[in-house]
Amino acid sequence: MTRSNIIAFFHRAGWGVNAVENDEIQTNCPECGYGNFYFNLSKLVGFCHKAKCKYHYTPPTLEDLEERVGFGPNDFGGYRIDRSGVDEDYPPRNFPTVELPGVPVIEMIGGIPHTRYPAVVDYLRNRHLSQQDIIRFKLSYDGTRVYVPVYQGENLVNYVGRDLTNKEKKKYLYSPGAKTSEWIFGWDECKDWERLTLVENTFVSISFRNRIQCSTNFGSSLSDAQIIMISKSDIITVAILWDENTHRAANKAVRKLYDHGVRACYALIPGQPDDHDREKIVEIAERCHQEALKSEKKFIDPWGIARSKYQQDRKERMKVERRT
Ligand SMILES: [Zn+2]
Repeated sequence: MTRSNIIAFFHRAGWGVNAVENDEIQTNCPECGYGNFYFNLSKLVGFCHKAKCKYHYTPPTLEDLEERVGFGPNDFGGYRIDRSGVDEDYPPRNFPTVELPGVPVIEMIGGIPHTRYPAVVDYLRNRHLSQQDIIRFKLSYDGTRVYVPVYQGENLVNYVGRDLTNKEKKKYLYSPGAKTSEWIFGWDECKDWERLTLVENTFVSISFRNRIQCSTNFGSSLSDAQIIMISKSDIITVAILWDENTHRAANKAVRKLYDHGVRACYALIPGQPDDHDREKIVEIAERCHQEALKSEKKFIDPWGIARSKYQQDRKERMKVERRT
């Protein structure tokens, strides 16, 4: 059982988590509702500061609290998730020195947004990014590329620069020296989610972030560093919505996540999520999360791609057989 499992347990039990400091989480008291209930993550015992409360003079153990709600930190809808085998530490992190090129696409002056580059805003709008998204994620522009900064805590650790001229050799540019595969976009927010939906593209992830808990791993494979990050977080299920051609990579990522106590499922999607009806994608993500929790099924195939591919392969094979 990991710390994050226990913290998630307090969330799921409905007591809320007001603060986590060192080895203690502060929540609302399960017995009296008072906001100064402290639970020690090493000793696994709680204590209510209200003198009249039962949990003041009889400090409850984790088992007491489990009994109270009828489930424990490892139980999810009848399924047990145990990450006690995960003892790997975060990989050692060298925070690269990254400077974000360009200037803000939209700048706030005296609380009012000023659009510097309307054409860039139009491009982003076509990709379903709102003005608020542009401000919130601090997008910048240097005359050639629009940049999305990647932060880990206070540190700028990378950026994704998309060429808007269509003349550059590289469509996407990352910060020199940054290990792109070691980060997950907007991780400080994602790590507290229960569900994480991963897409390949940064713009797509921002555009869906207001609807579902969506981020990007910057491509179509999950590195060990990213898997450890996820397994140490509060995230229970991961839905992977990469391009259909990444079948094998997605399957590998799902298996690795399972090995680390994280339930996962991927969907076979022709092309990228933004090629399709957005409501359908939201629905597919939802289905992935449900499947991840309830079965050993590793993927869903809303377009029947796996079957048609198989049939195509079979046809090809038969052609060859006939010829030879
Ligand atoms: Zn109490």
